[in-house]
Amino acid sequence: ETHVDETTFSKHESEVRTYCRNWPALFDTAQGSWLTDVNGKQYLDFFAGAGALNYGHNEPTLKDALIDYLVRDGITHGLDMSTRAKGEFLQTFHDLILAPRNLDYKVQFPGPTGTNAVESALKLARKVTGRESIISFTNAFHGMTLGSLSVTGNASKRAGAGVPLVHSTPMPFDNYFDGTVEDFGWFERVLDDQGSGLNRPAAVIVETVQGEGGVNVARAEWLRALAELCFDREILLIVDDVQMGCGRTGEFFSFEFAGITPDIVTLSKSIGGYGLPMALTLLKPELDVWAPGEHNGTFRGNNPAFVTATAALNKFWADDLLTRDVARKGAIISEAFADICARHPGMSHRGRGMVAGLVFEEASLAAEVCAIAYESGLLAETSGPSDEVIKLLPPLTIDEDDLLHGLAILRDAVALVNP
Ligand code: PMP
Repeated sequence: ETHVDETTFSKHESEVRTYCRNWPALFDTAQGSWLTDVNGKQYLDFFAGAGALNYGHNEPTLKDALIDYLVRDGITHGLDMSTRAKGEFLQTFHDLILAPRNLDYKVQFPGPTGTNAVESALKLARKVTGRESIISFTNAFHGMTLGSLSVTGNASKRAGAGVPLVHSTPMPFDNYFDGTVEDFGWFERVLDDQGSGLNRPAAVIVETVQGEGGVNVARAEWLRALAELCFDREILLIVDDVQMGCGRTGEFFSFEFAGITPDIVTLSKSIGGYGLPMALTLLKPELDVWAPGEHNGTFRGNNPAFVTATAALNKFWADDLLTRDVARKGAIISEAFADICARHPGMSHRGRGMVAGLVFEEASLAAEVCAIAYESGLLAETSGPSDEVIKLLPPLTIDEDDLLHGLAILRDAVALVNP
């Protein structure tokens, strides 16, 4: 067995400096909502791959499906081929997800990760409309490649590209003005302003809940008004559901509660179900204008991920059990957060379904609480423009006792740093 030097390999996630979290443990195995390090210490996972593990680690049904596939020498890489694994996934996705919701989308495999889906959406919107600019929102996060980074509303992330990007103009997200601007009059005026350079945008790209941006929750009426405006002005509406899709908000798609139908939807993270890389771009059929070869990539369509994705859809989306679970556990989280906020003036909380943010007045306290929680065996991350928000993304399948245990660790950690 290879010996892994813990002191060397546990300090950083990789050998370069770009990684920002500091969990010094050398993690080894994981099951459900728990990870175990090489010394046998257990950690409760409220991070869950930033939303890539909605069904937890090594979910037994998905694991069995994957093992069966490997044992019978199922194709792992099938570039440019139709495969049974792919066909079964597409059939299941249409039958269990799209058809019951009356959604008519073509499904594209844009590449392995979320940012690939966003890139394909931006490219397609420009190609379809023949227009250039994309409207995005303050505090948005859409990915780390040049196109997706250009619509990301965080200057410190965009700085990773070295010199300024030709980036889209971010518009204020819902509640940016603390609810004082309730309509889209400002938006209409910008669009009518011939000098703004934005009067003929190709698309609007939006998250229904901004995950990386600090758990900023858009209201249903705001999303509806945005969708209507896009429709009236023939601007394509892209919903980036990479982090909030696949059940995080309680519905399969996070926009369902608003009754809107985006022109393009991006999905990734939990769509593979098992933590394997997979991404989808869903496009209205009339938008399928690409000529063959205009958007491809070697690792688009990962067959083992198709297998676990199909198993996840069959296990979790054939009925509404998960939806009810998310509603119940989401209420437990917001109750616990309300309790913490009642004890600590100045703190607030927000969220939808099983994404929740605990907001600190003093940003540095959020990281301090996460560090103490880590020592007590809980993994949670910060988000928001100043990292002032502790963001919870526990597996949707977490046991209620484990959820309460983790929330108690957080409550005690907050009491320690903010007495
Ligand atoms: N869009 C959203 C909303 C995201 O949260 C993320 C990842 N945090 C991405 C896109 C990019 O996905 P990936 O990291 O898989 O490229």
